[in-house]
Amino acid sequence: MKPPCVALVSGVIDMRFLMPAFETIAPGIDVRITDVLGERDKIELAVCWAPPQGLLASMPNLRLIQSIGAGVDHILKDSTLPPKPVCRIVDPDMTAGMTAYVCWAVINRQRRFPAYCAHSAAGVWQEEAIESPSGHCVGIAGLGRLGTAVARALVAIGYRVQGWSRQPKTDPLPGVTHFHGKAGLEDFLARTDTLVCLLPLTEETTGFLGRETFRQLPPGAHVINVGRGAHLVERDLLDALASGHLSGATLDTTAVEPLPQTHPFWRHQQILVTPHIASRTSPATIARQTLDNYRHVCAGRIPSGQIDPRHGY
Ligand code: NDP
Repeated sequence: MKPPCVALVSGVIDMRFLMPAFETIAPGIDVRITDVLGERDKIELAVCWAPPQGLLASMPNLRLIQSIGAGVDHILKDSTLPPKPVCRIVDPDMTAGMTAYVCWAVINRQRRFPAYCAHSAAGVWQEEAIESPSGHCVGIAGLGRLGTAVARALVAIGYRVQGWSRQPKTDPLPGVTHFHGKAGLEDFLARTDTLVCLLPLTEETTGFLGRETFRQLPPGAHVINVGRGAHLVERDLLDALASGHLSGATLDTTAVEPLPQTHPFWRHQQILVTPHIASRTSPATIARQTLDNYRHVCAGRIPSGQIDPRHGY
């Protein structure tokens, strides 16, 4: 099968880093980037991170829209999106990376490592309170591919773990207490000492990490956001920390990325910001999965990671 003409499109990042991977896997492939797309009718496959509004609609022979990440919010916000299959990446390495990050973020605060970093820098031998993982409940909002793996790992470490999803789970995870829907949210939050946001960004989940959610968490809770910046209402977080209701936040994503130098999160004693690095997929995996998905679509099969646009994930 002749390799398709591929467009690497983004309005915010330079997608050239993906070119060598496509050229290695499919020598001779026609790969184009956002600014030099040439004749649009040749393009059959668009590989995207936040494509400019309207650009995909200008490709009349597009067969597949592939996200380079697990989220597709950056694609679905294009109001002119053509009605073609949209796929997210499904990648065991991404899952492993996210699992490691969230376990670290939970342990870091629950075992008080920020204090030990300060003690170590000052040459002070001092014990902080030691609480067993079994006395600490981690609540994972979003029990999908990533949240499920994170839940399993935290159970294995010995934490009490609960998860919240949109629909009830037909195949509950051993050792995990399940909640779902708006009706299950209050009970889920009431018992959560560390809240992990691993939700996709949709109309329903935008602003999930806000005043109302924080109010329902027990005093002293820690919030970890590895979803999207728009899940968090920044002012509400600052207020909840200032009041002492929340004890800290670990944020891998922010509304504006990179986070501006002057942003109050940077110098806040109780906020730890990382630059959207919780997890990544290699260019080789993106290229391989994209081309496999293209072959599936051409053969009339369902591609891997196809999302349901009605739900937004
Ligand atoms: P999935 O689509 O596999 O899972 C999403 C989960 O969220 C499902 O359990 C779903 O419920 C639940 N959900 C969706 N909407 C709601 C809602 N309204 N109320 C309650 N639960 C809801 O996603 P992934 O696990 O693969 O990824 C999650 C997100 O993580 C991505 O969308 C992306 O934004 C983010 N991410 C961040 C990265 C980083 O580096 N920081 C890297 C990779 C991903 P149900 O099971 O009922 O469908």
